[in-house]
Amino acid sequence: MQECIFCKIAENKIPSVNIYDSGKSLAFMDIMPARKGHVLVIPRKHGEILSDISEEDLKDVILTVRKVTDAMFKSLCCDGINVHQCNRAAAGQVVNHVHFHLIPRSEGDNLNFGWPHEAYDKGEMENIAGKIRSSL
Ligand SMILES: [Zn+2]
Repeated sequence: MQECIFCKIAENKIPSVNIYDSGKSLAFMDIMPARKGHVLVIPRKHGEILSDISEEDLKDVILTVRKVTDAMFKSLCCDGINVHQCNRAAAGQVVNHVHFHLIPRSEGDNLNFGWPHEAYDKGEMENIAGKIRSSL
């Protein structure tokens, strides 16, 4: 896809500071980090959301996520790491190429990933679970 900035990074048409390249996936530094050390992991082949990515490529991406988070724990002295992935704009996706954010965290860093909790009506959770199960 011509206009996709992550495809251009994967094709070395835009410079990036790379961490790891499996051949199928690429890990590189986010230039607008939520915290210093923030890494992005992408499949090399374009897909907008998870279901657009082949199983083989998706397995490679998540193994790259694990490999890089292991390296971040060893090298950055972080207390934790968030792995964050968005599907479509309503969920906060800005670049329409599947990507995982790996964000190093420190105790008390005040980066807020908290969200409110809704309450289900009686039977509502089971109903929604049934809708999801029937679509598997
Ligand atoms: Zn792309």
